[in-house]
Amino acid sequence: MSFIEAQHYLKKGDSVECQLCPHRCHIRDGKSGICGARENKKGVLYSSIYGEVTSMAMDPMEKKPLYHFFPGSQIFSIGTKGCNLRCPFCQNWSISQEPSVRSSYRAPEEIVNMALSAGSVGIAYTYNEPTIWFEYVKDCSLAAKEKGLKNVLVSNGFVNPAPLDELTGFIDAMNIDLKCYNDETYKKVMKADLGPVKETIKRAHGNGCFLEITTLVVTGINDNMDELIELAEFIASVDRKIPWHLSRYYPSYKYNKPATDISFLTDIWEAGSQILDYVFTGNVHPSDSHGDTICPECHTVIISRNGYHTVVKDLEHGRCKSCGHELGIIH
Ligand code: SF4
Repeated sequence: MSFIEAQHYLKKGDSVECQLCPHRCHIRDGKSGICGARENKKGVLYSSIYGEVTSMAMDPMEKKPLYHFFPGSQIFSIGTKGCNLRCPFCQNWSISQEPSVRSSYRAPEEIVNMALSAGSVGIAYTYNEPTIWFEYVKDCSLAAKEKGLKNVLVSNGFVNPAPLDELTGFIDAMNIDLKCYNDETYKKVMKADLGPVKETIKRAHGNGCFLEITTLVVTGINDNMDELIELAEFIASVDRKIPWHLSRYYPSYKYNKPATDISFLTDIWEAGSQILDYVFTGNVHPSDSHGDTICPECHTVIISRNGYHTVVKDLEHGRCKSCGHELGIIH
């Protein structure tokens, strides 16, 4: 296990207050915070997961999912372990909720070199919650930036404003999970709060970070049309060009209600498409999916997708080739 002194905390005698996420854990000597990734040793807070990598792979950018950031490219993706949320339906629980999962140390330079030799467009910090890996994500990102690589964060957005502002200095794009639009559900089910996640979305966008939003539509948790419409309206209030991914849930971890009803997913896709320019369904068979990017102005297919097979068609300098509409796509 690799320890490095953590950033964003306050010393309080032998105790510390971690200020990385809104939990603001008060941690006594010898104990760890809720995420299990930050430990107090004699009044000093350490990251206990610095450089500890549990998973790495070259993934399609579309798998993050990011549909309007270098569409059709591949990105070197890494993850560690732990999470500051407790979603019972977690689709990645074996690394996010299992502290004993095996990891191995990789120096930031090693990760950057691996990404470069794989021909990747950048590095994605993903698979588990990367904001709790703050110190390592920062070191890797800065080293990656020096080599001209992009940095991508796939996050639950439950992070405090000060570390977020620092992250958006070197993170180029984020996919943020907005898990529902009900604070009671966030509190009861995810053991977090809705407000800070909304704040992260507004702030990251205001800081100029490219954004996409994902909502895993979970049977019996957030499959409520009125609530999802409110959620879409919130995204539109930030920017209606932000892509919204509606992802199908499958039973996992501690939650075994049936997988999301496909026709309900299609209904939300239809309703959301009246509110936002780009709504997609994911985690479904290609024949059931709505994965193409269509020009909101002239309805030309800009990017077609069949599973992870992506074809960029009518795109030029971020605009629709047919009508010239500015699409908000980075490529
Ligand atoms: S990052 Fe971890 S230790 Fe810090 S406040 Fe959040 S849950 Fe607690």
